[in-house]
Amino acid sequence: AENLQLVDKEIYEIIQKEVDRQENHIELIASENFVSKAVLEAMGSALTNKYAEGYPGKRYYGGCEVVDLAEELARDRLKKLYQADHVNVQPHSGANANLAVYVALLNPGDTVLGMNLSHGGHLTHGSPVNISGKYFNFVDYGVDEKTERIDYDQVYAAAKKHKPKLIVAGASAYPRKIDFEKFGEIAHETGALLMVDMAHIAGLVATGHHMSPVPYADVVTTTTHKTLRGPRGGAILCKEEFAKAIDKAVFPGLQGGPLMHIIAAKAVSFKEALDPSFKDYQEQVIKNAKALAKSLMDDGIDLCTKGTDNHLILMNLTSLGITGKDAEALLGKGGLAVNKNTIPNETQSPFVTSGIRIGTAAMTSRGFDEEDFTVVGQIISGLLKDRLSCQESLKMVKDLCQKHPLYK
Ligand code: PLP
Repeated sequence: AENLQLVDKEIYEIIQKEVDRQENHIELIASENFVSKAVLEAMGSALTNKYAEGYPGKRYYGGCEVVDLAEELARDRLKKLYQADHVNVQPHSGANANLAVYVALLNPGDTVLGMNLSHGGHLTHGSPVNISGKYFNFVDYGVDEKTERIDYDQVYAAAKKHKPKLIVAGASAYPRKIDFEKFGEIAHETGALLMVDMAHIAGLVATGHHMSPVPYADVVTTTTHKTLRGPRGGAILCKEEFAKAIDKAVFPGLQGGPLMHIIAAKAVSFKEALDPSFKDYQEQVIKNAKALAKSLMDDGIDLCTKGTDNHLILMNLTSLGITGKDAEALLGKGGLAVNKNTIPNETQSPFVTSGIRIGTAAMTSRGFDEEDFTVVGQIISGLLKDRLSCQESLKMVKDLCQKHPLYK
């Protein structure tokens, strides 16, 4: 920090400000987390200087023998974490990982069955504004209107009707467990390949708190920065028969030189995830989500699917008469970061929405327990129901944050 302060005071101060912001507000964005100092250190290392196009032992540049060791460690640890046949740790992001799978397994125009975006799917699962929706013929399945849970009969019917080459399972805003075994059966029966995007639940899968997709899917993609609590990035796991195609799609298909400092940081986070303490962490993430859900429902707030099995909650604000956009702004003023989100049977535009998505992974990393999350629930419903002022909320947020410091 000393060097940065001397060379570039502006960026130094921006970083200090952002650390302060992170330290002093309640982070409830379900896709975020706080990495360890060890991960931060690896990310900020001299490994960023090295070009290493290719893969360990088969590089297009000299001098890669040291960074090869880092990538090999990352690969070995990731394989062990999920009992995968083959892994690729080079994707720069989750979006890149997903695109690499499409490039590896599909031709432009091929039909793909993915989850409806307003029911919880991700942009890279066929949105018309994303390359996935532009280059491939995505068709969708959704959740049951009443239960708001994935309707596997509908998935099967859609697969039989559209005969997709690939089925994509996985979501960005789905608060319940996903039955990957069932998805595997549907894909198998209809002649499709199965890709699971486990980005959101990767940490829960690593510790057995969610069914692993690895035995059932041909290819699994993930981000490394959500519940898995690693650096911002992506990774792909696959069956041996797809290993060559996946590796070729990542490099040279889509990317150039891998980010070796990020790959080293991924290796650190995989080591952390293999430690028994990571299981306790994921256990607490789920306990906290249940405590928060209870706290909100006890105050009459509607939750999609009436609860949660994982790290996230989707609030339906319709009966409160406030939009997702306005609720996000109000909670922000009260010191809590959340994001607006579409809900099943959405009536508003994606920029306005009727929902708010909340996750417990980040604050659990700071040490929040069920009691803290019960208070968080009371703050949220207090603000939304106009019982609590932003001033009062900020005071309560400050107390909770001081009780569980982040990096200080
Ligand atoms: N897949 C899912 C299910 C996601 O939720 C996200 C990000 O939110 C991504 C992929 C994309 O990851 P990235 O933002 O790293 O491109």
